[in-house]
Amino acid sequence: MENILTQNKNLADALKDEASYLLERQKHTRYTMLRKSGQVGRVLISGAAFIITVDQNDKLKVLANHSVYIVNGVIKEVFPAKQKLIPESKIDLLYDAAKRSGVVITPGFINAHTHPPMYLLRSSMTLDKGNVVDQVAKMALLEAKMDELDFFLGAVGDFTEEQKNGITTTLSHYGVFDPIERAAKMTRQNVINAISAISNSHPKNSPALVEKILQHKKQYFSQPAIAIHYIHKASPEQLQEIRRLTKKYKVLLTMHAAETESWVQDCIERYGKRTIEVLVDLGLANSNTVLSHAVHVSDAEIKLIAKHKIGIVHLPTSNKIHRSGEFKYPLFVKYKADKLISLGTDSVISKNTLDLLSEALQTRIMHQHSHRVLYEDLFKMMTSQGASVLKLGKVGRIAPGYRADIAFWKLRDRGFMPYNEAKPISLVGNMITHGGRNIRDLMIKGEFVISNRLHNRVNESKLMTELQSAHMRLRKRLGND
Ligand SMILES: [Zn+2]
Repeated sequence: MENILTQNKNLADALKDEASYLLERQKHTRYTMLRKSGQVGRVLISGAAFIITVDQNDKLKVLANHSVYIVNGVIKEVFPAKQKLIPESKIDLLYDAAKRSGVVITPGFINAHTHPPMYLLRSSMTLDKGNVVDQVAKMALLEAKMDELDFFLGAVGDFTEEQKNGITTTLSHYGVFDPIERAAKMTRQNVINAISAISNSHPKNSPALVEKILQHKKQYFSQPAIAIHYIHKASPEQLQEIRRLTKKYKVLLTMHAAETESWVQDCIERYGKRTIEVLVDLGLANSNTVLSHAVHVSDAEIKLIAKHKIGIVHLPTSNKIHRSGEFKYPLFVKYKADKLISLGTDSVISKNTLDLLSEALQTRIMHQHSHRVLYEDLFKMMTSQGASVLKLGKVGRIAPGYRADIAFWKLRDRGFMPYNEAKPISLVGNMITHGGRNIRDLMIKGEFVISNRLHNRVNESKLMTELQSAHMRLRKRLGND
């Protein structure tokens, strides 16, 4: 087994070796520009070792040695690498996904629930000592002191971390719109920018303020949507107004729903019924509504979710940390509502890393005593099913006609190897049970946002410095440490 050893006998050798190692690494690019103008509308991903995706029949597929041809942000063709050649004159950028054991590509993952600006508050809740309720209260004091720059920097931190973990679409649920819009544009992340019409942290928000944004819906980089913190915080009149807005502007509505039993009781106190029943009464039970958590729902409510095709975001890590209770996955299966489930990270206050692979693993572990959630189903929740819950259209699969949102993972890496070559589907289980890990490259709408593990638009080191000083300025404004 001599061949797996380096030539170094000690640290001095290793340091000498470092320079040659770095030189060698520089040669490890997979990119060849074939067009001098720098225009890259046509991209060929050549000979991916494996493509993991969901096919037209909603079956998980692992395709070996396939190429993907992309034109203007849309996947044109997916074909066996050996069967076909695309002439160089039709390629602006060539990505060699075959050499050095190759690359595995998956659709970019879809995160259906987070609060991006809260990225700035990571250290405010490390959950070592003290209790969760006190820490959330303290965190809220910090959050109340955040300014526009803080919201923006937090969102950039959030989106870029998600991107490193293979996530290309994010539903942002927050009280501000513009900083999220600017962060989406800067990082190129696909963002559903749901602004709170009724908010705890932004009491001045209202349906009227949200309508002003929706009126200019088309001019934004992000996709506007409506959020409310909790249903019991909204009056019947406000909810009627929100219903009118979702219909008029054809936008999604998202809210935290039935996260704890005490919030369900608040809903009963105000409306006389449980959460989903109230949504039905108010005409808000439909596929434009996306509920995060949905932990404390009755059998009857889950039947209503299935009947009205209400979207659900499952957030097991957040539920564990906040001791919210256990999502009733087996009942969602029993009442055929499980195809309405997507996954989310929540903010760094509720799950310290913004990653979905570890969330998929958490889902598997959380429910294993009562129901085995298959790797196939977990993979769909992160991709095709997540896209359908968020009504994204042709997103979440690697197939012709779909938006070119693609995550590139090195095959010769922990998290994939060793795997059964006779059954490459085992890569999916390996990927999920290994938990989170970083992608090698990331494409959003046909554009490489991360190449050779580096973000092409945001200097991550400088971002960390900016986030750090903003965080300390914020603590200073609060006047304690
Ligand atoms: Zn949340």
